[in-house]
Amino acid sequence: MIGILGGTFNPIHNGHLHLAERLNQTLAFEAIRFMPAAIPALKGMPTVSAEHRADMVKLAIVNHPTFEIDIRELEREGPSYTIDSLIALRKELGDKVSICWLIGSDAFARLNTWNRWKDLLNHCHFVVVKRPHSEKLNWNTEVELLLEAHQTKDANSLKNSASGKVLIQEIAALDISSTQIRQHIASKTDVSNFMPRSVMKYIQQHQLYQ
Ligand code: ATP
Ligand code: MG
Repeated sequence: MIGILGGTFNPIHNGHLHLAERLNQTLAFEAIRFMPAAIPALKGMPTVSAEHRADMVKLAIVNHPTFEIDIRELEREGPSYTIDSLIALRKELGDKVSICWLIGSDAFARLNTWNRWKDLLNHCHFVVVKRPHSEKLNWNTEVELLLEAHQTKDANSLKNSASGKVLIQEIAALDISSTQIRQHIASKTDVSNFMPRSVMKYIQQHQLYQ
């Protein structure tokens, strides 16, 4: 079973790493791939290049044996649609491997805005982690219906099928966001508690987010 954590990682932070570590402890993935988006379809172009963002991901995960980087979205033209990445992954891994897309509740709540969103569950499961300040009340109705049709409470069932289920996994998510970090750096507030030291040094070296 493979986990994928897609994101802008602008920059990567301890909230991302904590999410991956806790889910790995409970679900025991063979690997978790961090997949930076080159051109996020819904956010517009990030101020920091995809190369810098990917380099920071590499630094953050280098000592973790289960974590890998997947740069396929950096090698594609145009908006980074998750569905295209999943189709490519399926070609590589085959139809039998369980693929879990790891996602915060803020992003899952708006899944209906993703390109070809109804196809996504044909290629992966979703493991949703509740993020502070993202209440379930705000979920789009269509996403609620999708959840009703596909939700499982049995974490083991994700291993027994390749795709098609949604698991809401309770973990104590950290209240950290890249937005907050970018604002802190711009206003010269200390961010050392929010990210690995190596990432902080990289940001300083390259004068990002100043
Ligand atoms: P931004 O503030 O720029 O949107 P972000 O902190 O939300 O950045 P993303 O790269 O957008 O980070 O997030 C990638 C994925 O990780 C999303 O599914 C998001 O919900 C999830 N995520 C990010 N931060 C956390 C966190 N602190 N706890 C749980 N999940 C998180
Ligand atoms: Mg976000």
